Amino acid sequence: MTLTLSFLGGAGTVTGSRYVLESGERRVLIDCGLFQGLKQLRLRNWAPFPVPPRTISAAILTHAHLDHSGYLPRLVRDGYAGKVYCSEATQDLCEVLLRDSAHLQEQDAAYANRRGFSKHKPALPLYTVHDADRALARLSPTSFDAEREIIDGLRVRMRRAGHLLGAANLECTWRGTKLAFSGDLGRYNDPMLPDPSPIEEADYLVVESTYGDRRHDSTDPQAALAEIIERTTARGGTVIIPAFAVGRAQTLLYHLERLKASGRIANVPIFLNSPMAFDASDVLCRHMEDQRLSKVACQAACGVAEYVREVEASKALNENSMPKVIVSASGMATGGRVLHHLKRYAPDPRSTILFAGFQAAGTRGAAMVSGAETVKIHGEYIPVRAEVKNLSMLSAHADAEEILRWLRNFRRPPRMTFVTHGEPTASDVLRRRIKDELGWQAAVPDHLEKATLT
Ligand SMILES: [Zn+2]
Repeated sequence: MTLTLSFLGGAGTVTGSRYVLESGERRVLIDCGLFQGLKQLRLRNWAPFPVPPRTISAAILTHAHLDHSGYLPRLVRDGYAGKVYCSEATQDLCEVLLRDSAHLQEQDAAYANRRGFSKHKPALPLYTVHDADRALARLSPTSFDAEREIIDGLRVRMRRAGHLLGAANLECTWRGTKLAFSGDLGRYNDPMLPDPSPIEEADYLVVESTYGDRRHDSTDPQAALAEIIERTTARGGTVIIPAFAVGRAQTLLYHLERLKASGRIANVPIFLNSPMAFDASDVLCRHMEDQRLSKVACQAACGVAEYVREVEASKALNENSMPKVIVSASGMATGGRVLHHLKRYAPDPRSTILFAGFQAAGTRGAAMVSGAETVKIHGEYIPVRAEVKNLSMLSAHADAEEILRWLRNFRRPPRMTFVTHGEPTASDVLRRRIKDELGWQAAVPDHLEKATLT
């Protein structure tokens, strides 16, 4: 029977990962991501799902990041009634992320209604907290490394991918065909997360390419962080670090704790201003089996910052002129409390805005990293006079060399390697390197392309 693979998202872009594997009457969804960044991408969240949700038999999440999980509440609301397989840590992080995402959707709709700028009257949220709870009830935690039959004949094994607590890559076998999905690949030798697990065999492979055209700076991240913090605080400035609340924020806390312990930034106060990051820190310290830190080190890292819970305390940070470090979400400055800090500190030439990972096209983060002189926040144009830096080595994604290192684990070339989850140039550069350096067949699928596998 023919097997097909459709690319319903994550093709030509780093967000909205959704792949449908189909055989006969059976459909399985791999990841269920939200589109983020450019408006034309975000509008896809509002289009009907390309296949009717009720016709999908099972879903699998590689990890909890919203660009892989954030559409799930809408899918369930629109009729998806099956299970959603994922690792235990992914389940716990989805509890934090999907509810928060639903809150933001509800807030956005309420704001649009107050301001009357929506074309739809009333403006409705993409999904509600109630929808998120219904989606969370469908999650079915699965152990790493054990093969599990999820629907007739489809066996799936999750292996650790690094990248984020609980993140997996997938080996699937269906009707005699082996498929592998890289998920998002983490970095090798990360102090907190395991190396991406090798996969040795697949007939078809889907591999991410976020940094398919780049190599991370090999400077030690702690040395780079220390240097920026020392320089900024010496001139009386504040370091604002926009960071994803789940994952990046904890990595930053780990490095900051190490720097405090070594005395390099001994007297600099550190604040974590993201309620969601507190919950994510809790999840981290509950899943010791999924990481490299000891319990003591994990607790020390999560305890290095003062947690800012109340909105009033968050505002007070903007009035306090003392040099400090503020870690706050969101990571690409698309929303969240960090916007208030950017309004205050981006115009201050003594301060530094320090990004800590990939900045998708269309986000304020991407604009600032590429040297924008102003950014629009809450309807106001804010001048950017602070120093702006992006420490890409703090990214949770493998760079091109690391992706190729992971690919070299395969003992024979897959019949086809689909290069996804990248901006078009990054995907194409990686596709060429796979062809030239490994001698494999590789292609960059288009959005909504359907590939016949057998
Ligand atoms: Zn991810």
